Amino acid sequence: MTAEHPRLDLRHLGRGLLIAGALFATSAAAAPAAVADAEVGRIVDHDLAGLVAYYKALHAAPELSRQEAQTSAQLANELKAAGYEVTDHIGKYLTPAFKGYGVVGVMRNGPGPTLLIRADMDALPVAEKTGLPYASTRQAKGEAGTDVPVMHACGHDTHVTSLIGVARVMAKLRSRWSGTLVLVGQPAEETIDGAAAMLRDGLYERVPKPDIALALHVMPFTPTGTIGLTPGHALAMSTQMDVIVRGVGGHGSAPELAKDPVVLAANIIMQLQTVVSREISPFDQAVLTVGTVHGGTRRNIIPDEVKLELNLRAYKEEVRQHLIEAVARISRAAALGAGMPEDRLPIVSVLENEFAPVLENDTALTQRLRPVFERVLGKDNVRDVPPVMGSEDFGRFGLDGKIPVLMFWTGAYAAETLAEAKSSGVKVAGNHSSRFAPVPESTLRAGILAMSAAALEILQKP
Ligand SMILES: [Zn+2]
Ligand SMILES: [Zn+2]
Repeated sequence: MTAEHPRLDLRHLGRGLLIAGALFATSAAAAPAAVADAEVGRIVDHDLAGLVAYYKALHAAPELSRQEAQTSAQLANELKAAGYEVTDHIGKYLTPAFKGYGVVGVMRNGPGPTLLIRADMDALPVAEKTGLPYASTRQAKGEAGTDVPVMHACGHDTHVTSLIGVARVMAKLRSRWSGTLVLVGQPAEETIDGAAAMLRDGLYERVPKPDIALALHVMPFTPTGTIGLTPGHALAMSTQMDVIVRGVGGHGSAPELAKDPVVLAANIIMQLQTVVSREISPFDQAVLTVGTVHGGTRRNIIPDEVKLELNLRAYKEEVRQHLIEAVARISRAAALGAGMPEDRLPIVSVLENEFAPVLENDTALTQRLRPVFERVLGKDNVRDVPPVMGSEDFGRFGLDGKIPVLMFWTGAYAAETLAEAKSSGVKVAGNHSSRFAPVPESTLRAGILAMSAAALEILQKP
């Protein structure tokens, strides 16, 4: 068998695969997988131009977290058109005013396991600066009630489009698998409360509870057309805290008559930056970021209070607890040191609704799917990616480790773009950047091929 043999040529996906599949249909053991790969390749090739157009339209019409009305309605229509039983408006938030826009498509196709595949649908309050012809110019009401620009700066539009691609592949290849497929459009991933909202609204009573859950996320870790795998710990837990630093307001010219919360807040911020470096073991990962500082109205007024919004990341619960305790301890001690009375000490709170657990990719599941991904994308196009301190609420669908889950990364930029960035030292625009611009065709293609092949593997006929 030479390198030119079609069987070794699987990385040149698409029409070549059809030939490979046709040839192997006549041989034994490897045949069914190769034929299925070829069929997946053919369907994706056929649908790709339409899916890219869908992606561009969705990219131009992003919706903020908990406002995904159009995105979810369109996804519901696509799933219905592909033959799925659709349930929509799933999601109950702790704030009753928020509407749940979760959508689920179910295909029951005989005995076998239930597989859940999730795509998140929400965008971010970012003003797009990609200069792309399909760039967003949308505005929407942000959390503060004012108009903010909106952009799919985390690439969730690639996830929604990929889910539609997978939905079509699996519907067309019904005769090749057995089991139940549950396709989930999840709202509010960026605010880390959408998955919990769907589960709170009885997701697993309303649709079959999965045996395995999969998701993909676009990231510039690897080139477009490739995917990245992180077995085990993949994404950290995220904790949000508020610290309201209280002082005694007064005239800017008479600090002796006031207690300045701006100086106190500055002191607390700097001391908090010693927690990770001086209190956490160098063998443990932790991040403590003070993301916002809000206080004051005029330069000659000492305000009554300053509000700090914090974000903490960790992989271990004891590290998380240490960070939370340190924030409370340092805030209190700094205020006492500044002479604040007991009844004006900082108010420290943890926003429990916005907690995201560690995303732990099931190692056995990753091992099982790796050869499937390698087969359909080519060995060189399946990379190992180290864990990150980012967070995700996809793990919630695994009910705290009861259901094995795997989220894999899809590359975003051309290999040449990444190489250029490496040599110039100017990093490519990553997720949440106003310039984040994944290459649509190859990114969608790799994601749909990998996810479809994984689904066919998990739902294979007995
Ligand atoms: Zn994001
Ligand atoms: Zn994201």
